[in-house]
Amino acid sequence: MTHANPFAPFEIIEGDRTKGLVLVADHAFRELPEEYGDLGLPAAEFERHIAYDIGVEALTRRLAALMGIPAVMARFSRLLIDPNRGSDDPTLIRQLYDGTIVPGNYPITAEERQKRIGTFYEPYHQAVSAMIASAAGQSGKAPLVISLHSFTPFMQGRERPWHVGILWDRDGRAPRPLIEMLRREPGLVVGDNEPYDGALRGDTMYRHCTSAGLAHALIEVRQDLIVAESGAAEWAERLAPMLDALNQQADMHEVRFFGSRTGPV
Ligand SMILES: [Zn+2]
Repeated sequence: MTHANPFAPFEIIEGDRTKGLVLVADHAFRELPEEYGDLGLPAAEFERHIAYDIGVEALTRRLAALMGIPAVMARFSRLLIDPNRGSDDPTLIRQLYDGTIVPGNYPITAEERQKRIGTFYEPYHQAVSAMIASAAGQSGKAPLVISLHSFTPFMQGRERPWHVGILWDRDGRAPRPLIEMLRREPGLVVGDNEPYDGALRGDTMYRHCTSAGLAHALIEVRQDLIVAESGAAEWAERLAPMLDALNQQADMHEVRFFGSRTGPV
């Protein structure tokens, strides 16, 4: 009998922390630790957006490499536990997702829920915290944090018109100029808090940025545009100069508290 290596809940991409810019990717992977099998789902479900953000791993690697900056990626599928939710959020471990029942998540004991939080969710978030603290220490300023996601072109039978969306809560320092820069690109349809609203209590940006007064933005790229490696490369090349321009601005590196539309921080 062979023993697999223990499952790593996150991956760090090394980069120059003195630049004060950190990438995070909550949904880049669809992997499950061996003990969870396939959560009782057919393999086809792991090809879909419900298991991970298609194209984001390649986008994150390319953007980090182009800019020479560090990144933290969660290595487990959001079907196991969703790192982009507060630990008390009812969708933290989904029992039903976009029409699919997840047998391995239903029913679930309180003990199993705590185990997933302690073994996967918290180690990832602690890695994000440690990276932000390290970038702050090495750059001597508050880091700008950029979160990378992708969205499905169709949801509940409706086509989404945006190529990219910038999601945010109340801190517009990074989102506003980023939306402006993207809208200058010919032919791009840019969502402002579309296809989702970026104010979500307890999510990754809330936990690490809104609560800490760090400038941040969440970028959602439509998955069909980055599913191919060439598309991910193209988007990394598009985003790199924009993020670099943002990162040059002094106000991206000041601790400021804007609060949250979801209520007091
Ligand atoms: Zn996502």
